[in-house]
Amino acid sequence: MGVGVGRRRRWRCALATVAILGGMALPCAVWSQSTKGGGGKLRVFAIDVEGGQATLFVTPAGQSLLVDTGWPDSDGRDANRIAAAVKEAGLQKIDYVLITHYHVDHAGGMAQLLDRVKVGAVIDHGVNREDDATTQRTYAAFAKAIATRKLKRIVASPGDVLPIVGMKATVVSSDGKLIDTPLEGGGDQNPYCKDAEVRPPDSSENGRSVGIQIVFGKLKLLDLGDLTWDKEMELVCPVNKLGRADIYIVSHHGMNLSSSPAMVNALGARVAMMENGAKKGGSAPALETIGAAPGLETLWQLHFSEEGGQELNTADDYIANTEVDGGNYLELQGSGDGSFDIRNSRTGAVKHYAPPVQQ
Ligand SMILES: [Zn+2]
Repeated sequence: MGVGVGRRRRWRCALATVAILGGMALPCAVWSQSTKGGGGKLRVFAIDVEGGQATLFVTPAGQSLLVDTGWPDSDGRDANRIAAAVKEAGLQKIDYVLITHYHVDHAGGMAQLLDRVKVGAVIDHGVNREDDATTQRTYAAFAKAIATRKLKRIVASPGDVLPIVGMKATVVSSDGKLIDTPLEGGGDQNPYCKDAEVRPPDSSENGRSVGIQIVFGKLKLLDLGDLTWDKEMELVCPVNKLGRADIYIVSHHGMNLSSSPAMVNALGARVAMMENGAKKGGSAPALETIGAAPGLETLWQLHFSEEGGQELNTADDYIANTEVDGGNYLELQGSGDGSFDIRNSRTGAVKHYAPPVQQ
């Protein structure tokens, strides 16, 4: 890049800074669109799959991990959106696809994705254990798609560290089993367990979700798939084995079957990213819990939740898709010093989060 271009860019950025309104800045020098993980940054794309999950992590080493593949059908809508994010990230392939569990909104898009994007290996919790007909069909299609392409399949166990280079991804839950020793920084008594609501065990595929903690320098992210309330409570009560998280990728699309206050409050996340649809997830109780969580600076959502209404949804700036949109995504770029930025693809605006103040 010539000096002149750099000057022009800085000048544009100065103007953008003047235009800051309510803490939202226009895309500026901080926003990296380079390949190989964004110039030393961890990039995380929360892709809109209309109430399913598809989250793409790209490390500075250029490696990538996709958590879930959205829904099948709809002419490959979700696979197309994932392929677009892969392209946006400058990737030629996805190194690892992790399937949290075999519900259709997570594993359903696998075959269509494999038709579009090269994948290195698959990570999952082992075989499907649910009788539901849709789930059985989804699992059969998933297993066939990866067998046809002879993809390596890795079965995750709690405590495993995934082989991805450039971030540390530790499995905290898989096939209904959980870590029995705390993660680094975890292990404290959790004051939010007192009088916490206890719910009966969930025997569905949700409770078998592969959950991971990601550590990138000082930044911690948590993605538990659709892990349900009873498992959350086991992870954080009476001792919080998860420790804190800077970024909570909201479990279960923000449905009221997960996000127990005992866990959400103990995480103390600065930011929550909710992969909800307009009519799926974004339940009022979950929105209330997350909105009131200590330390939370911003809730980001993929969609305006109809159930949440004006009162409980986050501000428009932090919603990727309003009532009339679809397909817009959120992208986080994290730095090892604990700072990060989040961009809303609908508006192009970026919000910056400074490194945490040292205690
Ligand atoms: Zn789900």
